[in-house]
Amino acid sequence: MMLDNKIKIKMYTKQCCETMSYHLAEGLIKKYTSICYGIPIMDGGDSYIQIFFCPWCGKEVEKLNKCQKKSVILKSNIEFLDMATDDLNIKQVLKNRQTKFLFAFLNNTNKRIINIACGILLERNVSSECLINAIAQKKVTSIYGKTSLLNLLSMRLLPVEYLPIIAKMLYTSNKNLMRSAFTCVTNCFKDNKEVEQMLKAWRDDYCPHNSTGYQLANNYLASSYGAKTHP
Ligand SMILES: [Zn+2]
Repeated sequence: MMLDNKIKIKMYTKQCCETMSYHLAEGLIKKYTSICYGIPIMDGGDSYIQIFFCPWCGKEVEKLNKCQKKSVILKSNIEFLDMATDDLNIKQVLKNRQTKFLFAFLNNTNKRIINIACGILLERNVSSECLINAIAQKKVTSIYGKTSLLNLLSMRLLPVEYLPIIAKMLYTSNKNLMRSAFTCVTNCFKDNKEVEQMLKAWRDDYCPHNSTGYQLANNYLASSYGAKTHP
């Protein structure tokens, strides 16, 4: 499916002027590299005439690019994705991102974008260290983003140094995040004494009596003690 023109113009709003944005969206001017704009020659090949100044407002093209910071480009990509309605389009844009830049998309307000970004992280088999760092270094701060990362981590066995980072997320008022953190703690650190102590402290100091967290901790502790006393 072709991108809607409005979306395309939105992608190019950081240009020198509106006319330039419009012509970029229409394909009459093309961006060939990060510092090269040109007018494509319609002879069926890929040749083009490079332009050094905007034909409409006269600004120097190279200067224009120098002041475009990466964050601005990334931000406009995120805005563009917010408007995209087609999963394939979203996936195409995200697939071109390096893994370290993919994490920014996990803070998006659109859950579909987060799901697709996580699907790509899974496909790329990104290391547990990289996933946990995204949380620990606050690259991912949204609740849904963190929940999704925890769900990816829940399928793995993790080194014990990661336990405090994940356990910290048990202390949240958000039930989904709490559940994911709980699953992660109990799945990823099997047969670990620290986990029992940590869950006990959490249950007693933080969880209101009979709350979901309290029940989860109780059930886990009962079954792990039960398993130990009756092998
Ligand atoms: Zn211009």
